Parts: sequence; C-alpha cells; structure tokens
Amino acid sequence: MPEMNAIVLCPLCEGSGSEVFVGRDQLMGLPGDFYYRECCDCGALYQAPAPDAQTIAGFYPDNYLDHDQPPVTKSFGWLRRGVLASHFGYRSLAKGGLQRLLGRLASFFFYRDEVPFNQGGDALDVGCGNGKFVQKLSALGWHASGVEFSESAAQAGILAGLEISVGTLEQAQFAGASFDLITARHLIEHLPEPKQFMAEINRLLRPGGRLLIRTPNSNALGRRWFGANWYANDPPRHLVLFTPGNLTQIANQAGLQQSVSKTFTSPKIVLNSWDYHRKNSGKPSRKIGIMRVVSRVYVGLAAMLGRGDEIFAIYEKQ
Ligand SMILES: [Zn+2]
Repeated sequence: MPEMNAIVLCPLCEGSGSEVFVGRDQLMGLPGDFYYRECCDCGALYQAPAPDAQTIAGFYPDNYLDHDQPPVTKSFGWLRRGVLASHFGYRSLAKGGLQRLLGRLASFFFYRDEVPFNQGGDALDVGCGNGKFVQKLSALGWHASGVEFSESAAQAGILAGLEISVGTLEQAQFAGASFDLITARHLIEHLPEPKQFMAEINRLLRPGGRLLIRTPNSNALGRRWFGANWYANDPPRHLVLFTPGNLTQIANQAGLQQSVSKTFTSPKIVLNSWDYHRKNSGKPSRKIGIMRVVSRVYVGLAAMLGRGDEIFAIYEKQ
C-alpha cells in the first residue's frame, strides 16, 4: 500500500481523488504495483503517490519502444502530399493541379490531423525519442529539432544527423519565443508536472505559434470497458491521464487557446487491451478474426460517442 503521508492530491487542480485501480507493467514487465486515483473535482486520472525523478528514469529501459534504433521514416504517398499541399500549406509537396484537386477533396475524409505549415518556421518535437518525427518535420520543410531525456534514444537520432538536445525540456534552456510549432506526442502523460510544462511551452512559442498534443483520453470508452487492463494506462510510465477538458484547462491557464480538440481511436488499442485482459496468453487478438471485427465496431462506437482512446489537440499562443 502507498504511504499515507505521501502526496496524493490531483496534480492539475489539487483536488482529492479516490483510488480507481492498481496497475501492473504489462508492456515492459517492470515489477511492482502502481496505484492510480481519479480526481473527484476535475476527473483527471493520476498515479499516487507520484514517483520521484530517479524512480521515473528507471521506468525507461534502453530498449523502450525500440528508441535506441536509428529512425526510419516512410515517404509520403501521392494523395497525402496532395492533401498537405492543398489544405495545410505545404505547396511544394504537390507537382500538378490534379494532385492538388484530389488532395482538396480527400482532405474532407483523410489526413485531417496534419500540422499547418509555416514557411521557414522553427519546430521542436519534445520527447522525440530517436527523432523519427523530427525527421518527418524536416522532410515537410520545417527547420526541426528535438529534445529527448533518454540518452540512448537521443544518440540514435544524433547519429542519423538530427539536431537533438539530450535532457528534459527545462534543461535545454531554449531562449523564449524560439518556436512556431512545438509537438508533444505521447509525452505529457509521462510528466510529473504538466502545468509547469505548459507554462514552459507558452514561454517558448512565438505569438501565433502552435502546440500540438497527442495523449490518451482518460474519458475514453476503452478505459471504462477495460479498467486496469486498458492498454493506454501504461503503468508505471503514465503519471497523469487527461480528459479533453483537463488539457484545455491547463493550456488556458498557461496562456494558450484551443484551436482543435478531438478524440480518435484505432483497433490497436482495443486489441492490445484485450490481450492485457487475457494476460497476454494464447494467440494475439490481432490474429483472431472475430476480435478484429469487434475492434472495428468499437472504433465506430467510440467515434460516435466522441470518446476515442486518444486526444488530438492544437493550442495557439495569441
Ligand atoms: Zn483534479
């Protein structure tokens, strides 16, 4: 059991929470029980007691998500380049009028979560791992760099010729108003102090600059269904799980305004959650036909209810 005098208040609003589940690491297999609470005031889910910095560092072995391997990015397909050129401002990515026209039509249905281009803009990917997304942003025409606290992951990207600072965002000590775009994809849920992070982002963005966030949605249908076995809980690495409202609230408090906030989901999360539920025994769910059908139904249902497993949000500095 956690020590009774340890800090167990919500890291977002300092409300009190009640324990909702005890998690085990089913991804990397680290030993231990990890206690999660749900805030009675704001609905955020958080690990309590919160681990200290040294403990957190131990949550990421060198082989975590293959981040110690060199980054490999796929080139963009013809239609995606059409969408990027016609809808998101990446004009040089499409050669002809047909590609732009079909891109414009396709943009209503596909590739809706791209980042609008800012010619000559500076982009920073926080928690960039081996720099795969830094490489993607560079290919799109950004002047892109990254910051990564795992030394082995950062070195893999640096060896591939990418500009990556090793350490936390705060340790990088970038000058204020240095970036037009900051991306934090599956990062903020790993941070012990998400409000401090938002304040730092607000300091680093130029006026009109954007913060793009992807993070699990604590209000997801999948979390209600699977409870402790929901894949996106990822204990012990996930310290705080947000509702879309939680995220917007801390962004606003830091001085950022919401421009996009939506949820989405994929069959992968429901299939992996089902595997966790079965303690990863037997055939993986993605190889079972009926489970693939169920996962498709789930994706449609979650979309209909606006309760997908992930939040995609963009915030702007005024
Ligand atoms: Zn709270």
